[in-house]
Amino acid sequence: MSDNKNFKFGPVGVIGAGTMGTGIVQIAATAGHTVLLFDENARLFERAIGSMKETFKKLVEKGKMTTDEAADIIGRIHFAENVSEFHDCELVIEAIIEDLGIKQKVFIELESSTGSNTILATNTSSLSVTSIAGACKNPGRVLGLHFFNPAPVMPLVEIIPGLATNHENIVRVHDLMKAWKKSPVVVKDTPGFIVNRVARSFYGEALRIYEESCYGLPEGQEGFATIDWAMRELGGFRMGPFELMDLIGNDINYKVTETVWNQFYTDPRYKPALTQKRMVEAGRLGRKTKRGYYNYADGVTAPKPKEDTELGQKILRRILVMLINEAVDALYLKIASAQDLDLAMTKGVNYPKGLLAWCDELGAKTVLDTMQSLYSEYQEERYRPSVLLKQLAANNKKILS
Ligand code: NAD
Repeated sequence: MSDNKNFKFGPVGVIGAGTMGTGIVQIAATAGHTVLLFDENARLFERAIGSMKETFKKLVEKGKMTTDEAADIIGRIHFAENVSEFHDCELVIEAIIEDLGIKQKVFIELESSTGSNTILATNTSSLSVTSIAGACKNPGRVLGLHFFNPAPVMPLVEIIPGLATNHENIVRVHDLMKAWKKSPVVVKDTPGFIVNRVARSFYGEALRIYEESCYGLPEGQEGFATIDWAMRELGGFRMGPFELMDLIGNDINYKVTETVWNQFYTDPRYKPALTQKRMVEAGRLGRKTKRGYYNYADGVTAPKPKEDTELGQKILRRILVMLINEAVDALYLKIASAQDLDLAMTKGVNYPKGLLAWCDELGAKTVLDTMQSLYSEYQEERYRPSVLLKQLAANNKKILS
């Protein structure tokens, strides 16, 4: 974003020593910053340092880092007794519990404890950045900086300006993320930002296909396995939707879907599925409880998918056009640039290619025809094609070239 090659950044503050906070501390300290970490539970500092030491031990064993380098990085991380110690930080990243009231309280405290140039960032996944910034006297300092789990491994970072964020701060943070060797994208403050919005159909449409048992799909675990097989083997996705939901945790995945759906005023495109709700109610949360869509207990053999290419192509086509339609609509609504939309899905959730590039490859007309046939069959708003998809098809136009 800027041409400043001699870009330097001072100390970084992190609030929250949980999963995300620990990952963010590791990234910032590895990039050379002095890092101050605060958590309301002081004992968690030791746990965070311990888990980083474990990570570095493995990296040293693999020859990716020396013991001295690991010690230097750990030496740059300090415990903060309270947030007033953040006064000299250039950037503070908040990664505490996902609760608007608690985050607003923390931002009010941060604003009065830091200099007027300190950028205040939130790692929220589902709250509006503007609503957090709204609690501050100067919301121009506040923005969203959304890392993906595990933060040191996943390259994508979504930068989310609130309604009043200063442009200069967006540029500073964009440059910093590049310096941290991340792939930053800038996205409008809208529900789910890019990834958690566009990826909803990957899960939602798979659940819908399963619930309908359409196209001759087997019931039960063979049904899940068949959809997963189609998306992996025929679509090139690294994981199928059901195995991925089991990895993420059905409780977390269901909550994200429900939040996005509510924030879009119950738009049927994002409607959660009862099948997943029942999984959560039964405590079948996925790998972490050894039972989700699949049974992970020792000695249980994995179900066999129905490897029928015709059936698999129907499943793939339906989920894929829903994903593409969502990405095209996000572009139509100027949620992010076409390049950033594609970068987000490839770097944030490892899709085999960007959805807009995929639209160009298949042709907007082909995608539109499938959406329209779903729409005419179901007569549901869930299947409404994006206006931009119709325009592209009518004018025989591509998005990226
Ligand atoms: P976590 O539960 O692992 O950690 C939260 C930490 O915040 C805990 O250590 C807790 O003690 C601390 N904390 C809570 N309230 C505090 C307060 N008032 N002051 C100081 N510390 C406080 O949570 P997490 O999974 O790391 O998520 C943190 C944030 O990141 C959330 O906003 C979440 O939505 C977001 N996020 C999570 C993921 C993920 O996959 N886990 C991915 C992207 C973004």
